[in-house]
Amino acid sequence: MQPKQNWRGDAYIKTKINPSHPIHISITAVAKDSNVVSYYVVVISDLTEQKRAENELRYLANYDPLTKLPNRTLMYQKISHAIKDADTRASLVALLFIDLDKFKPVNDSFGHAVGDQLLCDITHRMNSMLDNNAIVGRQSGDEFLLLIKNLDSPQSLSNLVRSLTAELAKRVVINDFAINISASIGVALYPFDADTTDELIRNADIAMMHAKQSGRNGFKFFTEQMNNQITQKLLLENALKDAYKDDLFFNNYQPIVNNKSKKIKGVELLMRWQHQAELISPAVFIPIAEETGLIDVLTEQALTRALEDLAPLFKANPRFYLSLNLSPVHILKSNLAERLLLILNQHHIKPVQLRLEITENTLLDDKNKAAKQLQALRSAGFKLLLDDFGTGYSSLTYLSQFPIDVIKIDQSFVRNIGRDSNNESIIRTIHTLAENLNLYCIAEGVETIEQIRFLNSIGCDDLQGYYFAKPTTAEILISDAYIQALQEKLQTT
Ligand code: C2E
Ligand code: CA
Ligand code: CA
Repeated sequence: MQPKQNWRGDAYIKTKINPSHPIHISITAVAKDSNVVSYYVVVISDLTEQKRAENELRYLANYDPLTKLPNRTLMYQKISHAIKDADTRASLVALLFIDLDKFKPVNDSFGHAVGDQLLCDITHRMNSMLDNNAIVGRQSGDEFLLLIKNLDSPQSLSNLVRSLTAELAKRVVINDFAINISASIGVALYPFDADTTDELIRNADIAMMHAKQSGRNGFKFFTEQMNNQITQKLLLENALKDAYKDDLFFNNYQPIVNNKSKKIKGVELLMRWQHQAELISPAVFIPIAEETGLIDVLTEQALTRALEDLAPLFKANPRFYLSLNLSPVHILKSNLAERLLLILNQHHIKPVQLRLEITENTLLDDKNKAAKQLQALRSAGFKLLLDDFGTGYSSLTYLSQFPIDVIKIDQSFVRNIGRDSNNESIIRTIHTLAENLNLYCIAEGVETIEQIRFLNSIGCDDLQGYYFAKPTTAEILISDAYIQALQEKLQTT
């Protein structure tokens, strides 16, 4: 070293407290006169703290602090690495996208601490089933990725996915709470289903969404067809947003009649979407509207339209009602009652003239919140109707816990009248139990005179269906000719 020169560098040395102690060394050559080095100044600093901080930062950047699993960033690197490796060895890589079913309600009802423990418990259970070729990572909230390297056969993968699904559906007890949870799993394989890391993750995710759609607690392997469906759905989603802006929705109405009094009691609002030359079914666009968050405004827009369309009928008969379908996501929104009341007030219509049709999903998703919301709607004066009754899981006793006024017997039961005696017993039972619970019954999907006779014989006189009238536009509905034809039909039934 020349005088005034400086050398510095990091090193690890053995000390009493640490066999590999990180230090920083700085050496400066000092000269008394300008040519000859007289001595060196050596400064050694302890880097333990700095290294610890660096490691912590590296850890935080790569691992999830709660479950200690690799996070999304690190998983991405590991998947990319596994793909490269698979190319050299000509082997397969499988990626599982795992999403817990109904995790949010667990968080909401038992608290976040329990939710956190549940995630750790699930991590532990997954890890205990896996060997060295598998890596679990946390993608986000309740989503996990499972990477399986050096896969020898798709068959062994099937077995693993099956046992994983079964394991994750086991009940867990945390802080004395018994929690029922399950998972939906999507599987994609490299190189069959994807060329890149991004594509592999995306396709495993798509397969997972399909597993969710087919009733949760199950798994699906990715197929090219799923991809096409997703593309179709995205196109429809965009078209739906445009249609909302351009006001391309309109209402149809289907009368609900009483076969004893021969009166039209009300109408059900059924939304329609004119998309280019096609009429898209609400069974297709309502779920998309729910997902995209458009359902609230779409429903409120439809209600406003209905109150304008039907003003003469509301005026002529103060008991005439509009039955409005409400989607579960909409019901669980706060201040729904206020918003509906505001719209009704603007049109001088009383809440008793509005029936709200809800489905059993609403009651199942988050029981406490649903009960609260329904109570608020009931207190605001609305009548609540349970739609598609008999197709879901709720028993009538369970129903007594919710403020329901009317049930609508699903068309699948009505359709089988005269064909299946078991089915007739079910309808009879529903009707008797409904009476005991002080609930009123309506039958929907009524198409034949035989069905009407049977329904009347058990005391169900409020009917809706093609036999009396198909859903129709407001213009036709309020025309004298239409009302007259419907009255005649009723008189002769
Ligand atoms: P839903 O509420 O159960 O409505 C009854 C469906 O049965 C309607 O189909 C109606 O046209 C049809 N229908 C009525 N009578 C008969 C009959 O005698 N025979 C047969 N085969 N069918 C009959 P639509 O209009 O296609 O609606 C399908 C579903 O879309 C509705 O089922 C409802 O779940 C949903 N939907 C429609 N409009 C709205 C809406 O404004 N909001 C929400 N959230 N959902 C809606
Ligand atoms: Ca309905
Ligand atoms: Ca229905």
